[in-house]
Order: sequence, then structure tokens, then C-alpha cells
Amino acid sequence: MSKPTVAVIGAGPGGIAMGIQLAAGGFDFTVFERGAGFGGTWRNNTYPGAACDVPSHFYSYSFALNPRWSRTYADQPEILAYLEQVAVERGLAEHLVADTRVTELRWSDQTHRWTVTTAAGVRQEFDVVVSAVGMLDVPTIPDFPGADRFRGRTFHTSQWDHATSTAGQRVASIGTGASAIQYVPAIAADTAHLTVFQRTPTWVGPRFEEVFTDEQLELFEREPDAALKLRDKAFQDYELADFDVESDITRYLTKISKGYLYAEIADPDLRTRLLPDHPVGCKRPLSSTGWFAALALPHVHVETSPIVEFTERGLRTADGAEHEVDTVIYGTGFAASDYLSTLEVTGRGGRRLHDDWADGAEAYLGTAVPGYPNLFTLYGPNTNGVTSIIYILEAQTEFVRRMLDDMVDRGAAAVEVGRSVTDAFNAEIQRAMADTVWMSNCNNYFRHASGKNVTQFPYRGTAFAERLAAVSPDDFLWTPPTH
Ligand code: NAP
Repeated sequence: MSKPTVAVIGAGPGGIAMGIQLAAGGFDFTVFERGAGFGGTWRNNTYPGAACDVPSHFYSYSFALNPRWSRTYADQPEILAYLEQVAVERGLAEHLVADTRVTELRWSDQTHRWTVTTAAGVRQEFDVVVSAVGMLDVPTIPDFPGADRFRGRTFHTSQWDHATSTAGQRVASIGTGASAIQYVPAIAADTAHLTVFQRTPTWVGPRFEEVFTDEQLELFEREPDAALKLRDKAFQDYELADFDVESDITRYLTKISKGYLYAEIADPDLRTRLLPDHPVGCKRPLSSTGWFAALALPHVHVETSPIVEFTERGLRTADGAEHEVDTVIYGTGFAASDYLSTLEVTGRGGRRLHDDWADGAEAYLGTAVPGYPNLFTLYGPNTNGVTSIIYILEAQTEFVRRMLDDMVDRGAAAVEVGRSVTDAFNAEIQRAMADTVWMSNCNNYFRHASGKNVTQFPYRGTAFAERLAAVSPDDFLWTPPTH
């Protein structure tokens, strides 16, 4: 059999890693990207202060280490430049079809191929599709009554409006998640007034960051082992994590975070409003150096009365107050638990992926779904939360490459994961998660409306990689060619 042709949907960190595997294997492939170029979430999220809270020496590909990271937690422009450079150096530019939104994937039981349809109505057939759309691709903008009568401007963090600065403006910022704790400290000092609307308090721990000196950068360049030590340290820190509600680590982190809040916020009333009642990790763990200091500024106000509506001049809260502002920033997150929600996917026998996932997405090791042959999902269900996502993506893309090589060796037209192995895996991980912080007493985006945890992997990063590497071909159904 000739090598299968492959469509990769998305040119972020996953699509780039996949493209590199496919190029190395000599596959004919196309990377479709709705944006203008490589980078994915690191191209979209340009808000002030955007950075990655995974140490950069570990938030980078093992096959493209970067001795030149300027600091422990590189900011968005530096990460985007790194991703673009890796993609271009590995020859992916000629495979990229940018500014092209894929809307539909349809499997044919007759031809054993996928038809990929774009928003412009262009159709193209491929033997294999790899979704690399990620988990944080669809912004959530709450449907507040009266939003259309507001005369000021509004934007979501992933669509930051850089045309007009927030400096000197009265600003409302909705949400206190991973994005807000980065942009609020970056913009707060220069605003005329900033109201931070908090629905649920969340733990924010201290962040220890090193800006690398010229001497260090030269050392990393000269002696790669010196930089590898930093990578290894970050990797090991993640491997030690324990997400059990009752674990010593959870108790310790909760104590540390409470101590940090008390040390940073002197006002007892503000402390009380910022104090969560859940363990650390129930919501995504956060760390910051500037968050509490920004909230303590005299012209910054933390509002906990729920937003009930927009007015012409701002936002009204349940206590009746009207908050007049020029700009409203939605730091309200993403539809993280609605995997592949921008794609209409029809698999074997006409089944719809979103019907199959009506009670919450699930896959086998986050990567393959029964009923959907020759489809692989990078950063798919239950692959989040325990280590650098780059590490997970590398494991997944190596696995996909192995499956494609196997298809060629076996002369198979299609490969599909078995139902029983998938069901057993999902029953196992849901059991393993029952007593974790993710399932404890807070609202978080890990859980689908059905209550099922669809985002988190309950074991260590190495367990994920080892299990994928050890997957038996016997757990998959291999379809011979039709001719
Ligand atoms: P998020 O963590 O999901 O936080 C959304 C915030 O908006 C929460 O505080 C939420 O309140 C609030 N919210 C949502 N709907 C609301 C409503 N109707 N009214 C009032 N408040 C509302 O979103 P995010 O901060 O954009 O971060 C999303 C994810 O992006 C992160 O968890 C992370 O995975 C990724 N990220 C990563 C980094 C990094 O450094 N690696 C940085 C930024 C983002 P509740 O808590 O009450 O739901």
C-alpha cells in the first residue's frame, strides 16, 4: 500500500509536532489552520502579560530544545517565535494551508477515506485525519442580558483589542482564571479604575521566576546538559504531583497558598472575599507574582456581587450597583470540555461524534475513538493537567506515526480502536479520579455538564507516554484495502 495521505487540523504545538513526524516519515500531508500561521493558542492569545506557567525549558519539544529561553516562564511573543521557528526550520511551511477553517469531517465506509470540508465549501479527501485543534480554541462569552446595548467596547482575552489601550480607561474585567491573573497585573496600574468581577475565589500561589543572565544563556548554549537540568527539574516536579484531596501535597499547597494570600492582602474584608473554600487544584492551579498586589491597588476593586446585566454605560450587579466602564474584558475562559466543537464529524455508519459524546467526550488514551477509523485526536479527552502538554503531544504524535507506519506495513486501509478497550480505559480513569481535587467542591472546566471529568488524566505524565507506547495493535481493528 502507498502511504496514507493525512490532514492535520490546526497548526499549534500539536499540529507542528504532528507535521514534523509526518515529514520525517515521508507522508503526504496538509496542515489546515484557521489563523494566519503557526502557533495556535500562542498566536491567538496576545493579551498583556500572556506567558506560560509551565517552565519553558519543559514547555518545548525534546527534539528542538531552546537554550535561549530568556526566563523561567517565557512570555507569549517568545513562545510564538519559538514555535514558528521550529515549524519553518522543519520544512512545515510548504504543508500549511492558513486562513482556512475546517468545518466538517465525513468518513466514507466505501472508500475508507475522510472528506474534509472547509468553511469556503472546498472538499478534499484524505486517508487519515489528525485533529490538533486543542482544548482551548473556543472562547466562552457569557450571555449577559443587555449586552448589545452597552456603548463601550468588549472583547475576550483571546481576541484582545490592541487598537486602543486600557491605560486611562475605566475597565471591567470578568473572571479570575489563568488568563486574568496574568493580564490584570499587566494593565491595572495604568487604568483609571479597574473592577475585577470574581464569581468564585481561586487559589493563587507565589511564583518563583529567574531571568537568565547572559552568562547563563551562554552556558546553556555551550553545555546543553546545563539547560537539560532545568528541563529535568520541571519534569520531575510534575511527576511528584498528587491530586488526591486528602494527600499531604494537596494539604501543603493549600496551606502555602493561604499563607501567601494572607501575606499579600492586608485588608481583612478583601482577604475573606478572595479566600476559596476548596482545596488547591480543584480549579486549575495558578501562580503569580503580581496578582494580589494589583488587587490591592487603591483604584482596583474586587466585585463579588454577581453580574446581572449590561447597561448602556456598564454592568449592573445583583446588589443594584451600576459599574460604569469604557471597556469590558471577558476573562471568562474557553469551552474546554466541548472537544472538537467547531467540527461536524461523521464516522462509520453515519454516526455523529457529538452524539456519541453527548454525555462527555471520551477516547482511548485521549487519542482514538471507536466508530471513527483513521481519526486521531491530539490533546484529546483526558490528556490534560499532569505535565507539560508538549510532552503529552510528543507521546501522541509518536503514537500516531507508529499507527501510520503499521498501516503501511499491514497494507491496511483503515485502523479503528476497539470499543471494549476504550470502555475499560475510561471506566478505569473515572474510578481513579473519584477522590481527586478535580472532583471536589468547586466548579471547574474539567467536568462536563454530565459530571464526568473529560479533561484530566489521573496518572503521571510518564504513565501516559508509557501506556501509549505499549498499546497493542490487537486492541485496534485493521481493515484491508477494498480493491
Ligand atoms: P478559566 O480559567 O476557565 O477562567 C474563567 C473565569 O471566568 C473564571 O474565574 C470563571 O468563574 C469566570 N466566569 C466564567 N463565566 C462567568 C460568568 N458568566 N460570570 C462571571 N464569571 C464568569 O479561563 P482562562 O483564565 O481564560 O484560562 C483558561 C485556560 O487557559 C486555563 O485554565 C489554562 O488551561 C489556559 N491558560 C494557560 C495559561 C498558562 O500559563 N499556561 C495562561 C492562561 C490560560 P468561575 O470560577 O466561577 O467559573
